[in-house]
Amino acid sequence: MAAHAHQPDCIFCKIVRDEIPSSRILETDHAVAFLDINPVNKGHVLVVPRHHHADLTELSQSVAAHLGGLLPKLCRAIQAATGADGFNVIVNNGEAAGQTIGHGHWHIIPRFHQDPVNWPWPHSEYVGDELGQMRFRIERELKPGAGDE
Ligand code: AMP
Ligand code: ZN
Repeated sequence: MAAHAHQPDCIFCKIVRDEIPSSRILETDHAVAFLDINPVNKGHVLVVPRHHHADLTELSQSVAAHLGGLLPKLCRAIQAATGADGFNVIVNNGEAAGQTIGHGHWHIIPRFHQDPVNWPWPHSEYVGDELGQMRFRIERELKPGAGDE
């Protein structure tokens, strides 16, 4: 699906266009990073592409690489500024995964030993040939022509 320049009702498009206030910490031609207004921990930052994309699957490889390339520098700055012991980098994609704002974004969440954040999540197990079957199904989708850019 093609990305749109902006969606008039999208809160992050409004932030990118400076139509509503935000606490920006970094911006480039393709991305804006700003403080999450209701942080998991203080210093929680969101990184968004300037153009409206519903989620990660709609990003071109080059825009995704650009945003991903900003992460180490942003994470170093957030960790130094907050004194965090670690951090989580998370992208929620789709309502089922907890995405509430339909303009794809990366979360950078500073973490502290003994903080009250409910993490890690539970793990399950593969049974029988489920692991091999899953590998086959994903590899088939990765074949050239399926899901490129
Ligand atoms: P998600 O649940 O992954 O869609 O994350 C959406 C995030 O956007 C939440 O952590 C919200 O606290 C944050 N958020 C919502 N509105 C604003 C806003 N106006 N400025 C900054 N962050 C916001
Ligand atoms: Zn948007």
